Amino acid sequence: MIIKEFPPFEGIHAIVLPLTGFGDLITSNMFVLGSGPVTLIDTGPKYPGALDFFRDGLNKAGFDFSDVERIIITHGHIDHFGLASEIIRSAGHPIPCHLHKNDAWRTLSGYIRKGYWSEESSVFTRMAGMPEKAIVRMERRSAFFKNFCDPLDEALPLEDGDTFTGDGFSLKTIHTPGHSPGSCCLYEEKEKILFTGDHIIKHITPNPITEVHKSFLGDPSYKSLLAYEKSLGKVEDLDVRFAFSGHGEYIDNLKALISRYRSHHEKRKLQIVESLTDGARPVYDLVEDLFPDLPDNEIFLAISEVFSHLEVLIEEGRVVLDHNGPPALFRAVV
Ligand SMILES: [Zn+2]
Repeated sequence: MIIKEFPPFEGIHAIVLPLTGFGDLITSNMFVLGSGPVTLIDTGPKYPGALDFFRDGLNKAGFDFSDVERIIITHGHIDHFGLASEIIRSAGHPIPCHLHKNDAWRTLSGYIRKGYWSEESSVFTRMAGMPEKAIVRMERRSAFFKNFCDPLDEALPLEDGDTFTGDGFSLKTIHTPGHSPGSCCLYEEKEKILFTGDHIIKHITPNPITEVHKSFLGDPSYKSLLAYEKSLGKVEDLDVRFAFSGHGEYIDNLKALISRYRSHHEKRKLQIVESLTDGARPVYDLVEDLFPDLPDNEIFLAISEVFSHLEVLIEEGRVVLDHNGPPALFRAVV
């Protein structure tokens, strides 16, 4: 075990898969609820040895693949649904998988086959001022991700307010867009546990990833950080004893963590405004200033972080779009 063990609750078992090569994520956490049949929250990625690891975790909790009757996926990223199809195959019976419609397109064969890249991704990276060579490298790298999942073509919709009950638990769905447009948390009222997916993570500030695929979204005006901040408000007043997130350790002081996130966003916004006071600049320039020597695999997340803060700063009237581009140029309002 590389992180502190999750506090024990009857009928709630954490299966903590250690991860390497996934940045700072440390672990992929899956949660098994009930006394059989069981509900699974998130599946982890299709990572070498992950299926066996999951089976061992299930066995330790007293279950087998065939006991899994339902899978709830907090959001449509590979490290949360990647193993779902293999689990279903191993169970030998159909298992309904629930996923919010704003993320449902991410798990479909058609999208995955294209290597998680589209014309919209190219348009966005060019708009950000990323050099063409780096764009090509990023597109290649993106295609590599399809190795970590099997498509999930038949997910059932998961909606705000949906409740899932089983032996000894009741989970209420809270739609918390921001990290992705379809991100959801699940609140278990009896034990006061909030399953947060990647909305809340203890050891990192979750990235409100810019959604470049506006054409897939119901709301083309979606802005990730604005949505994320609103979603923090949706969970901060809940009576939460522990938050169990998709990566890393459990959280025992949710409110304090949320206020740390807010200060982090404010600090980042100030840094960006300061870098834009001497003239208009593209997003990629700001990324190079803020995150020097960034490895290739983190560039998109960095662009996304800067852009999502720019969207909020524009909304607040502190930054303006000076030139449409590409690359788009932004400047501070002085
Ligand atoms: Zn994740």
